Amino acid sequence: MIYLDNAATTRTSSEVVEAMLPYFSEYYGNAGSIYGLGSKSKKALIMARETIAGTIGAQANEIYFTAGGTESDNWVLKAVYESCRNRGGHIITTKIEHHAVLHTCKYLEECGARITYLDVDKDGVVDLEQLKKSIRPDTILISVMYANNEIGTIEPIEKIGEIADEYGVLFHTDAVQAYGHLPIAVERMHIDLLSASGHKFNGPKGVGFLYVNRRTKLGSFIHGGQQERSRRAGTENVPGIVGIAAAAEHASLYMEERATVECRMRDYLIGRIEAEIPGAHLTGHRTMRLPGHVSFCFEGVQGESVLIMLDMQGICASSGSACTTGDPGPSHVLLAAGVTEEMARGSIRLTLSEENTMEELDIVVEALARIVEKLRGM
Ligand SMILES: *Cc1c(COP(=O)(O)O)cnc(C)c1O
Repeated sequence: MIYLDNAATTRTSSEVVEAMLPYFSEYYGNAGSIYGLGSKSKKALIMARETIAGTIGAQANEIYFTAGGTESDNWVLKAVYESCRNRGGHIITTKIEHHAVLHTCKYLEECGARITYLDVDKDGVVDLEQLKKSIRPDTILISVMYANNEIGTIEPIEKIGEIADEYGVLFHTDAVQAYGHLPIAVERMHIDLLSASGHKFNGPKGVGFLYVNRRTKLGSFIHGGQQERSRRAGTENVPGIVGIAAAAEHASLYMEERATVECRMRDYLIGRIEAEIPGAHLTGHRTMRLPGHVSFCFEGVQGESVLIMLDMQGICASSGSACTTGDPGPSHVLLAAGVTEEMARGSIRLTLSEENTMEELDIVVEALARIVEKLRGM
């Protein structure tokens, strides 16, 4: 099997699994209990929070553990809207966000929020002038993703942070694709709120975190016990939290090394596809893109058909986002980047990790060339 769908999810690394195991079997205490077994869990939570905070230049009390990226995004949008609704409910986001943001915005619109969806250029980059012009006295939040899951484009987060700071508007970034892969410094980048998810950087599924700047007042998301300083109640997922921290530590330690290897493989794959497959168009920005991210539209084929034929050769890839599989419409991200509907139907995403090899990439290019030619001839 050749796995090229790391933007959908990653393999939980063996070090991470090993770090988690004792917290299922031996140290199963509730972190809220006062006896020794409970305090073992509590200590693990404290350490995990410090580790995660350290990777983004935050303080431990600014990290809240959640059940993943979707929950973190929901929390921010709903809680900011609820708390600031009295001074207007205008939120600025983009047309290319993940559905965790877009569908939450749609829900908030039904509740009375007004939302501006920013355009992107042909490379998927947000228009900063349009952002500035969209800010109004009742704007309560700017939410722009750090890097896009479908086309890999990295957004100018620092500049967006500066603009948000200048106008005194809260800034949230969905950094689910970026965290663990790109350097993040929340203070320098003027980020008030940041979402991340364990399974996108070799951690376990179902655990993520939300960074909330200590000067930002954010309402509770799940009501109940005192966990997560009463803002996200429910017995902590201790093994998951230990796992996400182990993955975060590893990712930040080897980030540069890994990115170098992945960028080299990425550019090799892009180069060969462009040279050897006619009618292949790169989507997203050529250089301002995630290290392991390759995405193309192939003229005259259906992405889904290509995927099925790749699967028959043991190659795992995606047509864009795993979350839209089964959704027959063309990708909202590609349409926002000005790709025609016809062309958007031929989209393929190949997202690699440092575990892939050049030999695998050669096999993939050859399979892809054969499949595209065959489908076009049918
Ligand atoms: C995967 C992803 C999410 C959702 O994260 P989950 O942990 O799977 O809920 C949100 N935003 C982006 C950009 C993603 O890639």
